[in-house]
Amino acid sequence: MKYLNCICCGRSLEDICEYQPDGGTAFHTYGHYGSAVTDHMDGTVTTVFVCDSCMKKALTSGVARKDKPDA
Ligand SMILES: [Zn+2]
Repeated sequence: MKYLNCICCGRSLEDICEYQPDGGTAFHTYGHYGSAVTDHMDGTVTTVFVCDSCMKKALTSGVARKDKPDA
């Protein structure tokens, strides 16, 4: 059984299927121009996991945003 760790609290989340954490969310990025760490130019994907508890705290406190993009 494979486990994925929350980037905030380190909690282990069971990997249900290929980076699908049970009780959390996976975020994948090919990088961002403004980052000196994740501005990959070779197709590398960076993945982080956040458990539901940490996400709930982040959304409640406003650290994380929840928006609906314009249609
Ligand atoms: Zn967490």
